[in-house]
Amino acid sequence: MKKILIGTHNKGKFREIAYLISKKYKKISPISLKIKSPKETGKTFSSNSKLKVNFFAKYVNYPVISDDSGLCIQSLKGKPGIYSARLAKKHGSFLNAMKFILKKLEKKKIRKATFVCSLSYKNKGKITSVEGRLKGKISTKILGNNGFGYDPIFIPNKEKITFGQMSKKRKIKMDHRFIAFKKMKKKIKI
Ligand code: IMP
Repeated sequence: MKKILIGTHNKGKFREIAYLISKKYKKISPISLKIKSPKETGKTFSSNSKLKVNFFAKYVNYPVISDDSGLCIQSLKGKPGIYSARLAKKHGSFLNAMKFILKKLEKKKIRKATFVCSLSYKNKGKITSVEGRLKGKISTKILGNNGFGYDPIFIPNKEKITFGQMSKKRKIKMDHRFIAFKKMKKKIKI
């Protein structure tokens, strides 16, 4: 069976990416290979996803896929953006980071936000990168227990509920990662 390394230590992301890749591939986690994560020194989603895929590809001789993603909030000048995971680390948990965001937005009129995913695939030395974006807004409360990360405060456009309230299957088939994946599938067989 063909193998692919899904270069992420984030279990929520791993689950989503694994679900989207063809059943023909055996999906390998860097955790099972005892590979750590690289330092995310890039200034953009794209540079960080390429940095990750290059890092993980050094350890295996089969295809690797990595993403860099995050939540960009218009009234916060696009933050936390590439710092989405680091914001949660700084506040001790995603719950605290979400509380922090809701407090910051309390007096703001505009609650528009975009989930961004840069997806990079590397095979035989060649990198293919694409980007997926999903627009929506930040809810006024933390709602739902499904998903991961900032899912309980993000309401996609044309929806009335947060990703946290949505079934996993429904979220996976509409989010920024899915949009990036559709673009990737036009370029490579995966
Ligand atoms: P990184 O790409 O490893 O830097 O982490 C991205 C961070 O963005 C994750 O840890 C989550 O906090 C957040 N994030 C990315 N995609 C999603 C998603 O689909 N739902 C909720 N949070 C997400």
